Amino acid sequence: MSHSSAHVIAIASQKGGVGKTTSTLNLAAALHEAGKRVLVLDLDPQANLTMGLGIDPAEVPTSLSNVLAAEGLSLAETIQVTRTGVDVAPATIDLAMTELELASTLGRDQVLTEALLPELRARYDYILIDTPPTLGLLTINALVASRYVIIPVQSHFYALKGMTHLMRLVRQVKGRLNKELEVLGILPTFVDNRTALSKQVQEALREEHGDLVFTTVIKTTVRLAEAPIGGESVLTLSSGSEAAQAYRDLGKEVIQRVERGE
Ligand code: ADP
Ligand code: MG
Repeated sequence: MSHSSAHVIAIASQKGGVGKTTSTLNLAAALHEAGKRVLVLDLDPQANLTMGLGIDPAEVPTSLSNVLAAEGLSLAETIQVTRTGVDVAPATIDLAMTELELASTLGRDQVLTEALLPELRARYDYILIDTPPTLGLLTINALVASRYVIIPVQSHFYALKGMTHLMRLVRQVKGRLNKELEVLGILPTFVDNRTALSKQVQEALREEHGDLVFTTVIKTTVRLAEAPIGGESVLTLSSGSEAAQAYRDLGKEVIQRVERGE
């Protein structure tokens, strides 16, 4: 089905190292492979997504930092085309300062929403937003600008506990700033079916959140740890790998869930 405005999805978790950036990059690549026009926004000052797409943050002329600092720059002007076929609005370390400055800005929660102009949204089918491992103003801006949020959950002991803060923030944003916001899915990452703990965490996740948990899980694999080095996704770097197939499966699930919600 064609539509005139991109589906906007934030990938969020206040924990670092759970696979947010890896999942943003490889899900974006999977959606691109499925024929979708994809833009990713790097809202993390660490700029891991920008680097993962083969762009040196030190070399970018303008970034999302300039857009959010309301310097009169349009988001479209920051977009770079990457080898993966996915477009990116890059991050730089300046985003950290921008986040602090946002605190005293009028309408500080809506700055990103305002930057996603209808004519920009019309150019893409999907816009994915990678977020920093905090629940600060950058993440709030991402949640306010998004229709959906995907929550990666690392399969370890404290995984379930760590989700409650994010879930609370999602409810608050939905209640007060963005009624449309929904959790599109919870994505188990770093799954290792050889360990009992990993299985227990997954069972507990499915018990607590039911169908909200994606059928697809992302296993721990060196393929995904290697991928960012080349500025490529795992889909092209190791096209036949289990990890590549997992992100293709995730892409299909995302498309199904989004189109069901249309
Ligand atoms: P986050 O964005 O949540 O901080 P990342 O996506 O950057 O997490 O992942 C953290 C680290 O783990 C990175 O070095 C990444 O390459 C690696 N990684 C991500 N997913 C996997 C996986 N499924 N298996 C092995 N390593 C992974
Ligand atoms: Mg990250």
